[in-house]
Formats: sequence, C-alpha cells, structure tokens
Amino acid sequence: MIAAVLYGKEDLRLEQIATPRAEEGELVVRVGAALTCGTDLKVYRRGYHAMMLKPPIPFGHEVAGTVAEVGPGVANFRPGDRVVALNSAPCDRCFFCLRGQQNLCEDLLFNNGAYAEYIRIPARIVEKNTLLIPDGVPFEHAALTEPLACVVRGLEETAATPGDTMVIIGAGPIGLMFMHVAQLAGMKVIAVVKRDDQVATAKLFGASQVVQTTAVENVVAATRALTGEGRGADSVIEAVATPTTWEWAVDMVRKGGVVNLFGGPPSGTRVQFDTNRLHYGDITLKASFHHTPSTCRTAFELITSGRFHCAEAITDRVRLDQVPELFSRMLTRKGGSRDIKTAVFPEGESQ
Ligand SMILES: [Zn+2]
Ligand SMILES: [Zn+2]
Repeated sequence: MIAAVLYGKEDLRLEQIATPRAEEGELVVRVGAALTCGTDLKVYRRGYHAMMLKPPIPFGHEVAGTVAEVGPGVANFRPGDRVVALNSAPCDRCFFCLRGQQNLCEDLLFNNGAYAEYIRIPARIVEKNTLLIPDGVPFEHAALTEPLACVVRGLEETAATPGDTMVIIGAGPIGLMFMHVAQLAGMKVIAVVKRDDQVATAKLFGASQVVQTTAVENVVAATRALTGEGRGADSVIEAVATPTTWEWAVDMVRKGGVVNLFGGPPSGTRVQFDTNRLHYGDITLKASFHHTPSTCRTAFELITSGRFHCAEAITDRVRLDQVPELFSRMLTRKGGSRDIKTAVFPEGESQ
C-alpha cells in the first residue's frame, strides 16, 4: 500500500510499504479521510515528537475509515463498519489513570499512520477509543473527534459556566474549535486574532467580539475593555503557544478567574508573570494536555449530533499522493487564505 512516512525534519516521503494485518485484538481500517493537524506540522518541522513517534514512521493521526480486517478476539467490530479510531488510549492501571487523569497516563499508547491507504489500530485503542460512525456523518467530520476531544477537555478543565465571558487567544484550528464549543456551551466569546481573514473566521466560529492584535495599540487593554466594567474575562484560553500570548492571558483574566494555557511552546521556553497579580488576584493557572476516553465521546457526540459545525473546519481537500507537497507548503503558508484543516483522501472524496 501507499503511505506517507516521516523520516526526519521536513522529510516526508510517499512509499510503498506492507499493508498491515490485524493481529489479536486489532483492526485494520481502510482510511476514508485523514486530517492535517498543527501537531503534525510541528512534528514535521522538528523531525520527531518525544511522546508520539520516532522516525521513520508512517505519519498522521486524525483518521476515520472502514474496517477492512478484524483480528482474533475482536467482538465489537465487523468488516465494513465505519469507525473513527483515536490516536491514543490510556492503560487504565497506572497512578494517573487510577486518579482519572488518563490524559497523563504513564503508558499512553499512541498510533500514527493516518496518511495511508490502510492503518492498523492496536488492541488497546480498539477496546477503548474506537467509535462507530452513524450513517450520514462523513469520514472527514468524524476524524475531527481527536482535536475536538482535546478542546472539550480544555474547556471542562476551565470550569466556565453559561453566561461567562471567555477570551480565546489564537484563531488556528484549535482556537477556532474552542470558540465554537464555548459558544455552544453558552459563553460569551471574545476572540484575540492576528490576521485580517481571522476576524471573520472567528465570528463564523462563535466569537461575539474580536480584537485584532495588529489593529490596536495595547492588546490587553483593548480586550479588557470588552469585558464587564473592564474587570477582565472570567476565563482565558491561550491557543497560540508563544511566551507573549501566555503573558497576555494572565493579564486579561479577572480576579478569581481561570487561565488555561493550552498552547504548548517548545521545551525550555520561559515566561514572566506578575506575582502580585497572580496572588492577590487569586488567579488559577491551568495547562491542559490531550484527551481522555470520556472527552473523546463528548466530542464525538458534538460531531454526530450536528451541533458542532464540522464543515467550516475543513477548508481544503487533497489526495494521498499530494501529502508530502502539502506539508512543505504548510511550512511557508502564512496568512492570506482562510485555511483551517486539510482532509486527505486515499480513495477520492466519495464516502
Ligand atoms: Zn491532532
Ligand atoms: Zn495509565
């Protein structure tokens, strides 16, 4: 079969590799659609990911498709079933899992290889994080479950309630998904974005007000001015992953508010916070990572119920053989057109 294999920094190759076979407890899924992700781009740029993968390795992790082969011992799936298989599953036995923090599992099992004709789904993911897609839900929508599950968890951790004012910094795929989910949950969303095209996109995804960083002199002051009596937002989500935006987030929240530093800058990055503001403002700092089986199901329900508008999130479609070129293009793509996620179709766009 054909697969996109990551060899290292900016080295992604289309190769003929052996089609996987389903062993005990496993599935082989014929890929219906795979989606590009900010994490994939980050890994492509760096050439590795300490937790997720070591090259050379088949690449891509947001995937939905049709079960092609069922391994011995699998009772819940049959060939022909349409499924979304998440990119990881926890052990449910370690210190963190037993405390309900499965996203921090010490033995989190990752799966990659979505940009391919077929993908092997390991037994643990089959058992804990593979879901049947209802008729009428396209693969490209179902494949959004993984990033949306991270967003749902980030929102849950923030403990915002309907009517709250929430600032979301960043209008990349994750920032936009946060805006939409927050709006669905009844929050008043203020988006902080950079580019011209992101102003309209943020509104499309549920922001009621938008601050464009290049159009104001003081981003923090302009954002606070949009909150009740200028006291700051009830909660702030940072989804850019730079020290400056991390610092803005703390300066934009109200006393007693919650900041979720969701974007992960490179290791070794340092930020500066005003200790006085943190302490006397009684501010809670959080930094959410990844998803749990529970948030995967919540995200899947948002998608399959039609409440989450998936169609807006997929702005480009390519064939599998275009993936290496797509990633080299994504490296340099800055601004201009509204592009959020690209769907990759090994077999053309028919569902
Ligand atoms: Zn992803
Ligand atoms: Zn565990």
